[in-house]
Amino acid sequence: MKIIRILGFAAALLSPLALAAPAHVHGAAKLDISVDGDKLTIAMEMPLDSTLGFERPARTDTEKLAFANAMTTLKNAAEIFTPSAAAACRVASVEVSDPFPGGKAKADGHADIDADYIFRCAKPAALNSVTTSLFKQFKRLHKIDVQRATPNGQGKASMTPEQPSVSW
Ligand SMILES: [Zn+2]
Repeated sequence: MKIIRILGFAAALLSPLALAAPAHVHGAAKLDISVDGDKLTIAMEMPLDSTLGFERPARTDTEKLAFANAMTTLKNAAEIFTPSAAAACRVASVEVSDPFPGGKAKADGHADIDADYIFRCAKPAALNSVTTSLFKQFKRLHKIDVQRATPNGQGKASMTPEQPSVSW
């Protein structure tokens, strides 16, 4: 059983889909939205460039302030994500990774912000959309690729400054 699982995993890694999966694209971000019972999870991966315009540790005071402001914005889940109002969701937890653990730049010169947002919804049956303000907060961001897994099924969508919502 264990071997079969490992082979399956290797096959998934080698599949054309996995190889074609776009990596880090400046101006774009990825969201995985999942709904499980009363829990709404939004996992985000965003190139740091989309927030700051650079992907190395801040050097000047101006850059340090911009970085701190970006992190503050990204930690404010209630501000950047609005689930369907009728679902009565509240922020349960937020985790935003430090793009530079130990203060060091990445060897390849790129850096991502990974963040996990968890909401708990009093009326999860009414949850059928999420709207984001990320495009207003970060003008360099132009597109968010969304994958969702909800009780209604799975799907893909894109958010843009003109269409900053997904619904299902
Ligand atoms: Zn980059």
